[in-house]
Amino acid sequence: MFKGIGASSGIAIGKAFVLEKEILNIQRNTIENLENEKGKLQKALALSKQQVEAIQNKSDEEQKNILNAHLMILEDPELISNVEEKITSEKLNVEAALEDVLNMLASIFESMEDEYMKERAADIRDVGERLMMNLFGKEMLNLAELEEAVIIVAHDITPSDTAQMDKEKVIGFITDIGGRTSHSAIMARSMEIPAIVGLGSITENVKTGDFLIFDGSEGIVMVNPNQSMIAEYEARKEKEMAEKKELRKLVNSDTISRDGRRVELGANIGNPKDAKKSNENGAEGIGLYRTEFLYMDRTSLPTEEEQFQAYKEVLEIMGERPVVIRTLDIGGDKELPYMNLPREMNPFLGYRAIRICLEEKDIFKTQLRALLRASIYGNLKIMYPMISSLEEIRQANEVLEEVKRDLEKDNIGYSSHIEVGIMIEIPAAAIISDMLAKEVDFFSIGTNDLIQYTTAVDRMNEKISYLYNPFNPAVLRLINMVIKNGHEAGIWVGMCGEVAGDPRLIPILLGMGLDEFSMSAGSILPARKQIQGLSYEEMKEIADKVLEMATADTIEKFITQYV
Ligand code: PEP
Ligand code: MG
Repeated sequence: MFKGIGASSGIAIGKAFVLEKEILNIQRNTIENLENEKGKLQKALALSKQQVEAIQNKSDEEQKNILNAHLMILEDPELISNVEEKITSEKLNVEAALEDVLNMLASIFESMEDEYMKERAADIRDVGERLMMNLFGKEMLNLAELEEAVIIVAHDITPSDTAQMDKEKVIGFITDIGGRTSHSAIMARSMEIPAIVGLGSITENVKTGDFLIFDGSEGIVMVNPNQSMIAEYEARKEKEMAEKKELRKLVNSDTISRDGRRVELGANIGNPKDAKKSNENGAEGIGLYRTEFLYMDRTSLPTEEEQFQAYKEVLEIMGERPVVIRTLDIGGDKELPYMNLPREMNPFLGYRAIRICLEEKDIFKTQLRALLRASIYGNLKIMYPMISSLEEIRQANEVLEEVKRDLEKDNIGYSSHIEVGIMIEIPAAAIISDMLAKEVDFFSIGTNDLIQYTTAVDRMNEKISYLYNPFNPAVLRLINMVIKNGHEAGIWVGMCGEVAGDPRLIPILLGMGLDEFSMSAGSILPARKQIQGLSYEEMKEIADKVLEMATADTIEKFITQYV
């Protein structure tokens, strides 16, 4: 049995196909005809571009985005000039020069602290491999040509591999390297193919033809299991499918508790494609659109037009249903290398999110202008992140008003009823939420950050992750206070932190009176089923009891009986 990181849920049962990458023998030679080497580079670049574009034509939206990043690398003037420079100055053959430059670039990304940026090294290696194969005149393995349905076993799965995968032929995949935010993991979830990453050396322990079982939620792989194990997992898989089918019946139903309290279940999304997926999963709205993904994976800020198109697309997909779009929340664990923000001792407590937007007003205005222009296509609500004071809300609203006036001057329309709300994710905001509530249209509680700031526990730090606990009584009291203060001022209160989709917290949050729960699309139907089975009146009493308990442990044990 091998244990890795569950990247995409689902049980996969079938034969292994070990993906072996060709090992190229790259030699270092001194070359006289330098122009010839540069010509070879140009040819390989052109051919690689053609190949990526061809794969892109057959890909879905998510894959297209990633492949776009690949095209950008192939067109990156710096990459090309670096290789040419090396050929000239060292009289080096093109293969060796390219290898040096790729290694240099990949190691820059690999050395970054941020998990997401680290993973971008994989893109460089993926494109680099294609370029190199083309220099050697060799063809890359094409997963579209698999003859039978298999489980792919690989050191790593590249975006070009996944883009060629046919869901009928690929039961699942497992890899040696990668984390939950690696592209291979993101792709697996987007394609709904079960996957485990970060298994260490699974390629050394499995041969093509071996029989495999794995569970993408548990992150466990079994190689050549016995009959009884196979039977057990087949039964589990069947049960899982039956449950999924049962849940699908709730796609179009409302989320109403047993005794008639109605709440809204929204989805957290990062791009328009997620909005489509959330639709299929019965989302009643978008509770959080993390716009920072529009700014990532590229080399410069997105234009107003690019942003407008993305926001419009999401609003159109959701129709009349509410769409809460959060303004740029960069900083902390989310870096934008091209902005050249200074390194900080405590990035989570530093120059980030609304703090950047209020200082770099051009960036903020461009986003607000794109949002306002898109507002006529649906039911837009604008949300500011990382608010810690009333002044910030007022300043942000001033910029918003200024952008509205600019649009009016230009005769460009925008909706007249856009709600403006804030994230409550900093204890300071929670504590003065009675006052903040008077100046906004809604609150959305961001527990991911609220927990870290309340308990002084870095959400990225494995070592102290045992302290990062939503059942911490201080956190629950703050959440309760925010909901009460919001309601007293007559505004609605939602939650878009991970906790909103956690079946252990849902009964408490329902009892506290939370109006909107926003979560990843896959959690919506299970949450709906759970809430339909709960009584609001009973949960109110439960929440009151919980608020009197002094330790996280007591609360967690107590609540288990309602899950
Ligand atoms: C949060 O902090 O709870 C939140 C939803 O925002 P993010 O995870 O993007 O920081
Ligand atoms: Mg946050």
